[in-house]
Amino acid sequence: MPQILRINMSDMTTKYEEFPEKYKKLGGRALTSTIVFDEVPPTCEPLGSFNKVVIAPGIVTGTNAPSSGRLSVGGKSPLTGGIKEANAGGLTAQKLAKLGLKAVVLEGQPISREKWFNVVIKKGSAEIVEANEFAGMGLYDLIGKVWGKFPNKPGIIGCGIAGQKLMRSAGVFGNNVENNDPGRYAGRGGLGAVIGSKRVIAIITDDTDGERPPPVNKDMFDEGREKLVAALNEHAVTGVLEKDGKPYGGLKNFGTNVLQNIINEAGALPTRNWREGRFEGAAKISGEATHELVDKVKAKFPDSPAQYAHACHPGCIMKCSNVVPYEDTGELQVSPLEYETAWALGTNCGIDSHYHVSELNRICNDLGLDTIEAGNTIGVAMEAGILKFGDGPGAVDFLKKVGTDSPMGNLIGLGALGLGQAFGVTHVAHVKGQSLPAYDPRPIRGIGVTYATGTQGGDHTQGYTIAPEILQVGGAPDRMDINKAELSRAFQATTAFIDSTGYCLFIAFAILDIASGSEGMIQSIHGFLGDTSIDAVAYGMEVLKKEREFNKKAGFTKLDDRLPEFFKTEPLPPHNVVFEVTDEELDKVFES
Ligand code: SF4
Repeated sequence: MPQILRINMSDMTTKYEEFPEKYKKLGGRALTSTIVFDEVPPTCEPLGSFNKVVIAPGIVTGTNAPSSGRLSVGGKSPLTGGIKEANAGGLTAQKLAKLGLKAVVLEGQPISREKWFNVVIKKGSAEIVEANEFAGMGLYDLIGKVWGKFPNKPGIIGCGIAGQKLMRSAGVFGNNVENNDPGRYAGRGGLGAVIGSKRVIAIITDDTDGERPPPVNKDMFDEGREKLVAALNEHAVTGVLEKDGKPYGGLKNFGTNVLQNIINEAGALPTRNWREGRFEGAAKISGEATHELVDKVKAKFPDSPAQYAHACHPGCIMKCSNVVPYEDTGELQVSPLEYETAWALGTNCGIDSHYHVSELNRICNDLGLDTIEAGNTIGVAMEAGILKFGDGPGAVDFLKKVGTDSPMGNLIGLGALGLGQAFGVTHVAHVKGQSLPAYDPRPIRGIGVTYATGTQGGDHTQGYTIAPEILQVGGAPDRMDINKAELSRAFQATTAFIDSTGYCLFIAFAILDIASGSEGMIQSIHGFLGDTSIDAVAYGMEVLKKEREFNKKAGFTKLDDRLPEFFKTEPLPPHNVVFEVTDEELDKVFES
């Protein structure tokens, strides 16, 4: 029988509960947001004992459905003050699912602040163990040490130094499949600090003797799964590495960072703290540059782990991830280097050195920082004159202050808005306190509507209208059109559904264009749950309704569904446009 595991850090107990009937159709984001809605007081202190961290694999996670090993982490965000769901790949989601766990709820808080703990989950048992030896340790070392103690290479998630110091830009790390890189981040919203507030460093999941969760209707599930596999392999974005002897699938060859050049070309690549829309150094830190580096290093060091077409969890067939090597030794530098990270730590800081961008990424991973928040924070520091735009070595030294005794390190940990307030910088790109990612909303209006109105604060993944507006996947609306409420709503709803299934959001590229892929995806969910009544958009809207209700009770109004003023007043070169979507249009997203 599926279960929920509760880890109570107030009384140091663990408890298994039967998975309630009322939650039976829920997984991933739908489940984390519902449990947060049902159990967390919306006005509570995010770093206090009433907040909870809810960790949930998706509906079909743990099965052999393709690219379905995503893990949702939810709670009240210390960065936005609203509800948060962040999700990632890694090993933990599939292992929890194989142990029959629909969710792990980390709740309460020890009164004593002297000790740190790990949680070890195995088949039928969960134990809270002292972990002072891991406090203050870099996460590359931590993963190596934990794997040394557990022969079965468990899944590990948790918080690094940033989370232990309760920094609002702390993400929840997860470990890679085959190396000690902690780069599988449910990065956004400061949930790493919520884990730290519970005095927990790592949740270690060993699925020895676990089993794949069985679909209720196996034939329907298998038929759907096969259709989805075919669509993913066929589509030019998600498809195979090579076709007819030539590079084919965009994600496998160049990763998500294939977008660096595309968004630059569109004049929508936020550059030097959102002052310009084109970066002269974009190509040097693009996915194409990473591809070239990997090929070069592999030719020189055949045993190097360098790789593109890398999977973030077993069973991903889209493989957008990579392993970036040090050029001079061939050893692992960081894994993965993704588009939004390369943009935040590179373009947004005017840094065009692939080495320094990767090194900044590695430092974030080691400390437990969200890379998007960190890159925006460095950009704001550059705007404040603390260091110069383009100064890669300076940015590395600056970021290394996090976790030291330097007060500047604590200011960096507050995130871009906090650092901006400390230094009188108002040119901070955020919504609800969370920094915006790599797409400027002035020349791409739909994504601006998503940033403003989404439940999660500034976040592209909650309604990725870039797919049709720029990539012309699933349609080709004029990106300058200001009537984007309907488009954003549709993307926000379907995203909330996909985030609940356990499938990686990138399946959307194929299922938006290939009807049989879309049919297959929904069929796999129907087959798994044995319920053909589920409709993706209606399901997603229910999730959004709960999240918005939580935010309303936490004190949000429609005035929080707005972009910072400078987007309306400061034209972005080269198109020299401002964000022209009206407040009325923004309010239409959830009013109709
Ligand atoms: S496509 Fe990329 S992010 Fe998505 S599951 Fe695969 S490797 Fe992970």
